[in-house]
Amino acid sequence: MLKPNMFYGDLKESYLFYNIAKKTGKYLEEHPDTHLYRMGIGDVSLPLCDAVIKALHEAADDQSVPEKFNGYMPECGAGFLRSAIAEHYRGRGVQLADDEVFVSSGASDELGDILDLFDRENSSLIIEPAYPAYVDANVMGGRKIVHLASGRDNGFLPTPDENTKADLIYICSPNNPTGAVFSREQLKAWVDHANKNGSVILFDAAYEAFIEDESLPRSIFEIEGARTCAIEICSLSKTAGFTGTRLGYTVIPHDLERSSMNFNKMWVRNRTTKTNGVSYVIQRAGAAVFTPEGQQQIKQNIAVYKKNAKVLMKVFDQLGIWYTGGKNAPYIWLECPNGMGSWEFFDFLLNEAQIVGTPGEGFGKCGEGYFRFSTFGSPADTEEAAARLLKLLG
Ligand code: PLP
Repeated sequence: MLKPNMFYGDLKESYLFYNIAKKTGKYLEEHPDTHLYRMGIGDVSLPLCDAVIKALHEAADDQSVPEKFNGYMPECGAGFLRSAIAEHYRGRGVQLADDEVFVSSGASDELGDILDLFDRENSSLIIEPAYPAYVDANVMGGRKIVHLASGRDNGFLPTPDENTKADLIYICSPNNPTGAVFSREQLKAWVDHANKNGSVILFDAAYEAFIEDESLPRSIFEIEGARTCAIEICSLSKTAGFTGTRLGYTVIPHDLERSSMNFNKMWVRNRTTKTNGVSYVIQRAGAAVFTPEGQQQIKQNIAVYKKNAKVLMKVFDQLGIWYTGGKNAPYIWLECPNGMGSWEFFDFLLNEAQIVGTPGEGFGKCGEGYFRFSTFGSPADTEEAAARLLKLLG
């Protein structure tokens, strides 16, 4: 008799965003015509930059010309895009071969699919508070999860000790939800730990483009020893506004091997079996991001979000509220004032200032008492929300 994957029964209801939608829906029902200041969103608000739009149009036109038409694309990514991404890394001092870069439809897809490379008996360490997909993808695969709580005492940036034991290690830096960024020394501790124990680090670099402090690493491969213990998963979603356009990339070094199995070769085999590549048009749009013009334009968009972050950070500084993130990340993670719980603070902000944020408890137990603000909203809404916060909490 057919047996479903019973591990799906172990998934917890994804109540975080469901609850937020329910509470805001109820508020709007009771207060029609009220404008809500949505500071919880993880989606971008600015459109694609001109260089990307131009590439999209040109690529669409190519598809109408027999000599320029493209059918199936190479499963692991178009040569022009793999090479543009590898060159981008090389420009930042990280030496990669083009075929160590795999083009994907986004980081979410890869974070789930990559688990195909590892035995079900492997355990996964998840640093919490965490992006909820890490836990859920591992529950679906029936893997044992090792929860590593972090907190204000370590700036939400824990490092391993002799009790840390897991086969797979998820590291997200800059972090969603905390906005905290691991230093070189902290990442080196994780890399050394992984190499010593034979673990593999899954490094989520979805927010690397927000790092402005030159001393902070934007890629795990800036750390010596990472080529033998890490896979990097990245995305153009937040870097270049591709949340709806869909494009990402994954770096698997040739040197990453366990039990005589080479993970780069395994991923080639996986992709050539399970995908038929990302569309030509979208890959051309992606390549435009890595041109000098594209880089300059995406930086202008990121600067808008960074200005939002500054506006909010100024208010929290004035109010003396502890927070992390904001400077090198599009999220600000703060301690709820007056000892309020995450959901208590959520209700308070919604009812008293019509501001919607994200309760920290939704990212893991240790997020209780904390709150996430996103900086992806419109500047006008962010300014008004900041003014309301100052008035309400001052
Ligand atoms: N990783 C983290 C930490 C994220 O916050 C997100 C999206 O919010 C993703 C991955 C998913 O990115 P993508 O849009 O490329 O699927």
